[in-house]
Amino acid sequence: MKTILSHANLIDCVEPKVRPDTAVLIEDGRIRAILPGGEPGNAGDAQMIDLNGGYLMPGLWDVHIHPDYLSLDEMPLADQVTLFGHRLAAALTESGITGMRCAGAHHFMDVAWKRAFSSGQHVGPRLFASGYFLTPAWDLHTHSFLLDDEIRAAFEICRKRGFKVMAHATNPDAVKNAIRLGAHSIEHGYIMDDECIALLLEHDTWYVPTLAISHLTASQASNPFEAAWVAERGLSPALCCRAEAASDVHATWFRKALDAGVRMALGSDVRPLKDAALLESATARRRGRR
Ligand SMILES: [Zn+2]
Repeated sequence: MKTILSHANLIDCVEPKVRPDTAVLIEDGRIRAILPGGEPGNAGDAQMIDLNGGYLMPGLWDVHIHPDYLSLDEMPLADQVTLFGHRLAAALTESGITGMRCAGAHHFMDVAWKRAFSSGQHVGPRLFASGYFLTPAWDLHTHSFLLDDEIRAAFEICRKRGFKVMAHATNPDAVKNAIRLGAHSIEHGYIMDDECIALLLEHDTWYVPTLAISHLTASQASNPFEAAWVAERGLSPALCCRAEAASDVHATWFRKALDAGVRMALGSDVRPLKDAALLESATARRRGRR
C-alpha cells in the first residue's frame, strides 16, 4: 500500500532548514522517497493526503517520563500497568511522540512495556526503560540524598554493566558530582552555577531542564492549553508554591545553558504523556526566546 503526503513543510532532522513544498512517499509502512515539488506527477494508485503546507517531521521525543505514581491501594498493579501502556501508545498515536525515556517506574512496568513494544505485537513509542529510581519522592532542590560512597558505587555498578546514568540533580553540588562521575544526562538542574555550565560543556553531558515542572501553575500559564492542563491537574497549594519559588532561578540557568551551547533534550516530567512533550516544548520556547 502506497501513501503520498503532499505539500508538506518538511523538517527531516538531517538538514537544519525546513524543506518547503515537499512530498513524502510511504510504502508498506516505510518512507520510500522524499520528493521536491509538493505533489509528484505520477501518483498511480497511491492514497494522497494533502498537508496544505503543514509541518511534517519524523516525531518528537520525551526523555523524562513517569507512569502515574499510585499505591496498590489506589489501583491494583495490573490496572496500573495496563493504564501506563495505554498512555504510552496514546502519546504516539495522538501526539506523535515516537521516543520516550522513563525516569523511574515502580514494579518495572516500563521494562514490561518496552519488551511489549519491541516485540512488534503492540503499537507504541520506542521506549528506554529505567525501572526504579534512587531518589526519594519527597526531596527538596537543595538536598542530595546519597553519600559520596553510595553515589560512587551507583555509578561504578552502572559503568560495569554498561548502563547509562540519568542523574536527578537539582542543585550545583549534585550537578557537578553527577557530571564528574560520568552521568549521561542531568535532569532538572533547577539551581546551577557557572562551573556547572562549564562542566556540562566540557563533558558533553546532556541537560534535560524539565521546565514544565516549575512553570505550569495557574499564574504562569500563558495560553488556553496550559491553563486547561493546570485546571485539570489540580496542583496542591504546597506544590504550586514550590514550583513558583523555583521558576525564576530555573529559567535563569536554562537560559545560561542555552546561550552557552549546552546539549539539551526535551523531557517533561509531567502527565498525561500525550500532552507532556508539547507543554514542555512550549515552555522552553517561551523561556528560550531572546
Ligand atoms: Zn522525574
